[in-house]
Amino acid sequence: MRKITRCDCHLHTDNSFDSDTPAEHQVDRAHELGIEYIAITDHCDVLEWSREDIARSNAQAVELDRKYDDLTVLRGIELGEPLQDLDETAKALGLCEYDFVLCSLHNIRGEEDFYYLHPTEKQAQNLLTRYFDELLEMVRWNGFDSLAHMTYPLRYITGRDGVEVDMSPHMPKIQEILATLAANDKALEINTSGMRSEGGFLMPTIEYLKLFRRLGGRYITLGSDAHVPEHISVGMADGIAAAKEAGFDSAAVFVNRRPVQIQFE
Ligand SMILES: [Zn+2]
Ligand SMILES: [Zn+2]
Repeated sequence: MRKITRCDCHLHTDNSFDSDTPAEHQVDRAHELGIEYIAITDHCDVLEWSREDIARSNAQAVELDRKYDDLTVLRGIELGEPLQDLDETAKALGLCEYDFVLCSLHNIRGEEDFYYLHPTEKQAQNLLTRYFDELLEMVRWNGFDSLAHMTYPLRYITGRDGVEVDMSPHMPKIQEILATLAANDKALEINTSGMRSEGGFLMPTIEYLKLFRRLGGRYITLGSDAHVPEHISVGMADGIAAAKEAGFDSAAVFVNRRPVQIQFE
Protein backbone atom coordinates (compact mmCIF):
# COMPACT_ATOMS: atom_id res chain seq x y z
CA MET A 1 0.00 0.00 0.00
CA ARG A 2 1.38 3.40 -0.95
CA LYS A 3 1.87 5.57 2.09
CA ILE A 4 -0.36 8.64 2.02
CA THR A 5 0.94 10.51 5.03
CA ARG A 6 3.56 10.14 7.75
CA CYS A 7 1.38 11.74 10.42
CA ASP A 8 -2.25 12.26 11.41
CA CYS A 9 -2.69 14.46 14.45
CA HIS A 10 -6.45 14.56 14.89
CA LEU A 11 -8.19 11.28 15.80
CA HIS A 12 -11.09 10.37 18.08
CA THR A 13 -11.86 7.19 20.01
CA ASP A 14 -14.72 5.91 22.15
CA ASN A 15 -13.47 8.30 24.81
CA SER A 16 -15.19 11.00 22.73
CA PHE A 17 -18.99 11.39 22.97
CA ASP A 18 -19.32 11.07 19.19
CA SER A 19 -17.18 7.98 18.50
CA ASP A 20 -17.60 4.27 19.26
CA THR A 21 -14.15 3.25 18.03
CA PRO A 22 -11.78 1.61 20.52
CA ALA A 23 -8.42 3.42 20.55
CA GLU A 24 -6.66 0.21 19.59
CA HIS A 25 -8.63 0.00 16.33
CA GLN A 26 -7.48 3.52 15.38
CA VAL A 27 -3.90 2.60 16.18
CA ASP A 28 -4.05 -0.68 14.21
CA ARG A 29 -5.49 1.08 11.17
CA ALA A 30 -2.86 3.84 11.32
CA HIS A 31 -0.14 1.21 11.45
CA GLU A 32 -1.64 -0.64 8.50
CA LEU A 33 -1.48 2.64 6.54
CA GLY A 34 2.21 3.05 7.34
CA ILE A 35 1.65 6.20 9.39
CA GLU A 36 4.54 6.98 11.73
CA TYR A 37 2.91 9.47 14.14
CA ILE A 38 -0.66 9.83 15.32
CA ALA A 39 -2.13 11.98 18.06
CA ILE A 40 -5.26 10.81 19.84
CA THR A 41 -7.27 13.98 20.39
CA ASP A 42 -10.47 13.11 22.18
CA HIS A 43 -13.02 15.85 22.78
CA CYS A 44 -12.65 17.96 25.86
CA ASP A 45 -15.29 20.66 25.45
CA VAL A 46 -14.72 22.51 28.69
CA LEU A 47 -18.40 23.22 29.35
CA GLU A 48 -19.15 19.49 29.50
CA TRP A 49 -16.05 17.36 29.72
CA SER A 50 -15.47 14.12 31.56
CA ARG A 51 -12.42 13.73 33.72
CA GLU A 52 -12.67 9.96 33.42
CA ASP A 53 -12.81 9.97 29.61
CA ILE A 54 -9.82 12.28 29.23
CA ALA A 55 -7.74 10.36 31.77
CA ARG A 56 -8.61 7.08 30.03
CA SER A 57 -7.81 8.50 26.58
CA ASN A 58 -4.43 9.67 27.83
CA ALA A 59 -3.60 6.36 29.51
CA GLN A 60 -4.59 4.42 26.39
CA ALA A 61 -2.32 6.58 24.23
CA VAL A 62 0.60 5.79 26.54
CA GLU A 63 -0.20 2.08 26.48
CA LEU A 64 -0.77 1.86 22.72
CA ASP A 65 2.43 3.76 21.98
CA ARG A 66 4.23 0.58 23.08
CA LYS A 67 2.38 -1.62 20.61
CA TYR A 68 4.34 -0.86 17.41
CA ASP A 69 7.99 0.15 17.16
CA ASP A 70 7.37 2.12 13.98
CA LEU A 71 4.27 4.02 15.12
CA THR A 72 4.38 6.73 17.77
CA VAL A 73 1.07 7.40 19.53
CA LEU A 74 0.95 10.87 21.01
CA ARG A 75 -1.14 11.99 23.99
CA GLY A 76 -3.40 14.67 22.60
CA ILE A 77 -6.62 16.44 23.46
CA GLU A 78 -9.12 18.46 21.42
CA LEU A 79 -9.75 21.32 23.80
CA GLY A 80 -13.04 22.94 22.84
CA GLU A 81 -14.17 26.46 23.72
CA PRO A 82 -11.41 26.97 26.36
CA LEU A 83 -12.27 30.62 27.03
CA GLN A 84 -15.86 29.84 27.93
CA ASP A 85 -14.69 28.41 31.27
CA LEU A 86 -11.07 29.09 32.11
CA ASP A 87 -11.27 27.27 35.47
CA GLU A 88 -12.35 24.05 33.78
CA THR A 89 -9.74 24.61 31.08
CA ALA A 90 -7.04 24.80 33.74
CA LYS A 91 -8.37 21.61 35.35
CA ALA A 92 -8.43 19.76 32.03
CA LEU A 93 -4.92 20.89 31.12
CA GLY A 94 -3.68 19.98 34.60
CA LEU A 95 -5.25 16.52 34.65
CA CYS A 96 -2.64 14.73 32.53
CA GLU A 97 0.55 15.33 30.66
CA TYR A 98 -0.11 15.95 27.01
CA ASP A 99 2.05 15.90 23.95
CA PHE A 100 -0.39 17.92 21.91
CA VAL A 101 -3.18 20.38 22.66
CA LEU A 102 -5.38 21.00 19.66
CA CYS A 103 -7.76 23.91 20.21
CA SER A 104 -11.17 24.30 18.63
CA LEU A 105 -14.32 26.37 18.66
CA HIS A 106 -17.46 24.43 17.73
CA ASN A 107 -19.96 26.79 19.32
CA ILE A 108 -19.57 30.48 19.99
CA ARG A 109 -20.73 31.90 23.33
CA GLY A 110 -24.46 31.50 23.85
CA GLU A 111 -25.00 29.45 20.67
CA GLU A 112 -25.19 25.77 19.85
CA ASP A 113 -22.56 23.93 17.82
CA PHE A 114 -22.63 25.11 14.19
CA TYR A 115 -23.69 21.57 13.37
CA TYR A 116 -27.15 22.42 14.74
CA LEU A 117 -27.48 25.86 13.11
CA HIS A 118 -29.04 26.55 9.71
CA PRO A 119 -28.52 30.31 9.24
CA THR A 120 -29.52 32.42 6.26
CA GLU A 121 -26.71 34.32 4.54
CA LYS A 122 -27.39 37.40 6.67
CA GLN A 123 -27.50 35.42 9.91
CA ALA A 124 -24.37 33.55 8.83
CA GLN A 125 -22.48 36.83 8.44
CA ASN A 126 -23.37 37.79 12.00
CA LEU A 127 -22.40 34.37 13.37
CA LEU A 128 -19.09 34.43 11.48
CA THR A 129 -18.25 37.86 12.87
CA ARG A 130 -18.75 36.51 16.39
CA TYR A 131 -16.92 33.29 15.55
CA PHE A 132 -13.77 35.02 14.31
CA ASP A 133 -13.89 37.48 17.25
CA GLU A 134 -13.85 34.57 19.69
CA LEU A 135 -11.22 32.74 17.65
CA LEU A 136 -8.95 35.80 17.84
CA GLU A 137 -9.42 35.89 21.62
CA MET A 138 -8.47 32.21 21.77
CA VAL A 139 -5.37 32.71 19.70
CA ARG A 140 -4.34 35.64 21.90
CA TRP A 141 -4.89 33.44 24.99
CA ASN A 142 -2.36 31.10 23.39
CA GLY A 143 -2.67 28.08 25.73
CA PHE A 144 -2.53 25.43 22.99
CA ASP A 145 -0.31 24.04 20.20
CA SER A 146 -2.42 24.00 17.03
CA LEU A 147 -5.62 25.73 15.96
CA ALA A 148 -8.12 23.15 14.67
CA HIS A 149 -10.36 23.56 11.62
CA MET A 150 -10.25 27.36 11.47
CA THR A 151 -13.15 27.58 9.00
CA TYR A 152 -15.36 25.05 10.83
CA PRO A 153 -18.65 27.01 10.41
CA LEU A 154 -18.30 26.89 6.62
CA ARG A 155 -18.42 23.11 6.71
CA TYR A 156 -22.09 23.40 7.62
CA ILE A 157 -23.11 26.81 6.28
CA THR A 158 -21.65 26.34 2.80
CA GLY A 159 -20.69 22.66 2.59
CA ARG A 160 -23.89 21.17 3.96
CA ASP A 161 -26.53 23.87 3.57
CA GLY A 162 -25.22 25.45 0.35
CA VAL A 163 -25.36 29.01 1.71
CA GLU A 164 -22.60 31.00 0.02
CA VAL A 165 -21.05 33.68 2.21
CA ASP A 166 -18.85 36.58 1.22
CA MET A 167 -15.73 36.13 3.34
CA SER A 168 -14.19 39.52 2.47
CA PRO A 169 -15.65 41.31 5.55
CA HIS A 170 -13.87 38.74 7.75
CA MET A 171 -10.45 38.87 6.11
CA PRO A 172 -8.94 41.59 8.36
CA LYS A 173 -9.85 39.56 11.46
CA ILE A 174 -8.62 36.31 9.90
CA GLN A 175 -5.38 38.01 8.98
CA GLU A 176 -4.97 39.06 12.62
CA ILE A 177 -5.69 35.50 13.80
CA LEU A 178 -3.09 34.02 11.47
CA ALA A 179 -0.50 36.72 12.23
CA THR A 180 -0.94 36.12 15.97
CA LEU A 181 -0.58 32.35 15.55
CA ALA A 182 2.57 32.89 13.50
CA ALA A 183 4.06 35.36 15.96
CA ASN A 184 3.41 32.92 18.82
CA ASP A 185 5.04 30.09 16.82
CA LYS A 186 1.83 28.08 16.98
CA ALA A 187 0.52 25.71 14.35
CA LEU A 188 -2.45 25.92 12.04
CA GLU A 189 -4.26 22.65 11.42
CA ILE A 190 -5.16 21.47 7.93
CA ASN A 191 -8.27 19.46 8.74
CA THR A 192 -9.14 17.08 5.93
CA SER A 193 -12.53 15.89 7.24
CA GLY A 194 -14.30 18.23 4.82
CA MET A 195 -12.90 16.21 1.91
CA ARG A 196 -15.17 13.31 2.78
CA SER A 197 -18.36 15.35 3.33
CA GLU A 198 -20.64 17.28 1.00
CA GLY A 199 -18.51 20.39 0.76
CA GLY A 200 -15.37 18.65 -0.43
CA PHE A 201 -12.96 21.30 0.89
CA LEU A 202 -10.09 21.53 3.35
CA MET A 203 -10.48 23.49 6.55
CA PRO A 204 -8.99 25.92 5.92
CA THR A 205 -8.59 26.09 2.14
CA ILE A 206 -5.32 26.89 0.40
CA GLU A 207 -5.82 30.67 0.26
CA TYR A 208 -5.66 30.78 4.09
CA LEU A 209 -2.62 28.48 4.16
CA LYS A 210 -0.85 30.82 1.75
CA LEU A 211 -1.80 33.81 3.90
CA PHE A 212 -0.52 32.06 7.04
CA ARG A 213 2.77 31.33 5.29
CA ARG A 214 3.08 34.93 4.06
CA LEU A 215 2.50 36.15 7.60
CA GLY A 216 5.43 34.05 8.84
CA GLY A 217 3.64 30.83 9.86
CA ARG A 218 6.12 27.97 10.30
CA TYR A 219 4.02 25.07 11.55
CA ILE A 220 1.04 23.26 10.16
CA THR A 221 -0.46 20.06 11.56
CA LEU A 222 -2.42 17.50 9.54
CA GLY A 223 -5.63 16.02 10.90
CA SER A 224 -8.21 13.69 9.35
CA ASP A 225 -10.51 14.09 12.39
CA ALA A 226 -11.34 10.39 11.98
CA HIS A 227 -14.00 9.06 14.34
CA VAL A 228 -13.84 5.62 12.64
CA PRO A 229 -10.77 3.72 11.33
CA GLU A 230 -11.90 4.00 7.68
CA HIS A 231 -11.50 7.79 7.83
CA ILE A 232 -7.88 7.87 8.97
CA SER A 233 -5.74 9.73 6.42
CA VAL A 234 -8.70 10.33 4.09
CA GLY A 235 -8.15 13.63 2.27
CA MET A 236 -4.52 13.82 3.39
CA ALA A 237 -3.14 13.75 -0.14
CA ASP A 238 -5.12 16.93 -0.84
CA GLY A 239 -4.02 18.46 2.46
CA ILE A 240 -0.36 17.77 1.76
CA ALA A 241 -0.62 19.05 -1.82
CA ALA A 242 -2.18 22.29 -0.54
CA ALA A 243 0.48 22.67 2.16
CA LYS A 244 3.26 22.21 -0.40
CA GLU A 245 1.67 24.69 -2.79
CA ALA A 246 1.43 27.19 0.06
CA GLY A 247 5.16 26.82 0.70
CA PHE A 248 5.41 24.30 3.54
CA ASP A 249 7.83 21.38 3.15
CA SER A 250 6.83 19.58 6.34
CA ALA A 251 4.06 19.05 8.86
CA ALA A 252 4.63 19.33 12.59
CA VAL A 253 3.86 16.74 15.22
CA PHE A 254 4.01 17.79 18.85
CA VAL A 255 5.96 15.79 21.42
CA ASN A 256 5.82 17.09 24.99
CA ARG A 257 4.15 20.21 23.62
CA ARG A 258 7.08 20.98 21.29
CA PRO A 259 6.95 20.88 17.48
CA VAL A 260 8.95 18.31 15.55
CA GLN A 261 8.95 18.85 11.80
CA ILE A 262 8.17 15.79 9.67
CA GLN A 263 9.27 16.31 6.07
CA PHE A 264 6.85 15.55 3.30
CA GLU A 265 7.93 12.63 1.12
ZN1 LIG B 1 -13.47 19.64 16.17
ZN1 LIG C 1 -12.18 16.46 16.21
